[in-house]
Amino acid sequence: MSVTLRFAPSPTGQIHIGNARTALYNWLYARKAGGRFILRFDDTDSARSTRAYADQIEQDLEWLGITPDEVVRQSERKDAHDRAAELLREKRLLYPCYETAEELERRRKIRLSRRLPPVYGREALKLSADDRRRLEDEGRTPHWRFLLPNFKDDPHQPERTLVTWDDVVRGPQTVDLAAMSDPVLIREDGTYLYTLPSVVDDIDLGITHIIRGDDHVTNTGAQIALFNALGAQEPAFGHHNLLTASTGEGLSKRKGALSIASLRDEGLEPMAVASLAVLIGASGAVEACSTMDALQERFDPAAASRSAAKFDPEELRMLSRQLLQQKSFGEVEGKLAALGISGENAEAFWLAVRGNLENLEDAVDWWHIVQTGPADDASLEAEDREFVRAAFELLPEEPWTATVWKEWTSIVKSRTGRKGKQLFKPLRIALTGRDWGPELSDLLPLLGREGTLARRP
Ligand code: GLU
Repeated sequence: MSVTLRFAPSPTGQIHIGNARTALYNWLYARKAGGRFILRFDDTDSARSTRAYADQIEQDLEWLGITPDEVVRQSERKDAHDRAAELLREKRLLYPCYETAEELERRRKIRLSRRLPPVYGREALKLSADDRRRLEDEGRTPHWRFLLPNFKDDPHQPERTLVTWDDVVRGPQTVDLAAMSDPVLIREDGTYLYTLPSVVDDIDLGITHIIRGDDHVTNTGAQIALFNALGAQEPAFGHHNLLTASTGEGLSKRKGALSIASLRDEGLEPMAVASLAVLIGASGAVEACSTMDALQERFDPAAASRSAAKFDPEELRMLSRQLLQQKSFGEVEGKLAALGISGENAEAFWLAVRGNLENLEDAVDWWHIVQTGPADDASLEAEDREFVRAAFELLPEEPWTATVWKEWTSIVKSRTGRKGKQLFKPLRIALTGRDWGPELSDLLPLLGREGTLARRP
């Protein structure tokens, strides 16, 4: 079977950098193996899932450089889920339960006080057909649980039943099915919780590997049992460590925390986001990879550490800056043109200013400075103003080459006696309106003699 992975978000909010980590682990794993990658929307919760969030997730993935081979919506596969539920009922592996949340909580406390594991005691399995009818006549509707295979003959005598798998990320894993409650697969209102549709779709889509956050490790034990109950061989599993905010708090879709959309709007480079999402919390150093091929080279799921990794937005900004500042003109030409930066000076301009940019849009301010002069009135002290005026009288004649700044400032230095900061800072302020920025030796040829003179205070 060809290698096939999937990313399966519920479209109930914006995806964040932690979700991007999961998406990229699956995407890169598939890419490395020459396999397929499916985007599957787990949208069976119709009250909270929206098409708008699904569309946004697709756009976010595209921005990150992830292009799925196929997009699947669980909401369109209800028949397959119903058939699987029916099969489980026929095998007596799906049974109706009538307890309310309060009843379950009361029983849980009793079990704890008796030093029993706080799992569901399968009381509903003891109900006769009459009992069930009576409860339904009282107005109760059942939810349905999957009977875990953790007993020999009597489901009320569960025994230690170890499920093991060789985790793609964490190595050998073991989960005891006797330490778990039979999972609820169908709610009282007849809708499916995540478990059954996920397993049914994984089977039908031929998923060979599932990589997801380590909050799913226990689920995996029950899901393997469900794959087998439905007559399927389970796929390989991998569970990566989760990302937390720098406060240690978990990231949440609903809070919009560090959403991919907000990182994009901030102007961050997508490969910086992808690089950090993949390389953080692993044994190797975090570096900004400029292409997906380079990131794929670095990707090693087994290198992820066991503990949660703290995500620092400042680190992301730094990686983004590094990537941007190394870009050749060819790589940004189209985007610069869209920002209104084009023409014969555009390349020299880019090479002059790129080292001073946080994000690409910052180039627009510098372009205006070069084209039309400082945005603000240069704030020069009276004494400096006199100095700058005198300096402008000494501007070399054209043609100007790369050495014009050096020639000019040497003459100014010898005539006025000023040097160092005293010499350069007032000139920089007069020319750009800022006391920091690109090398003036690069900017001056872009301004030209006329453009420079136009900035005379
Ligand atoms: N929709 C599930 C989630 O977002 C998918 C988990 C999985 O990958 O199986 O948690």
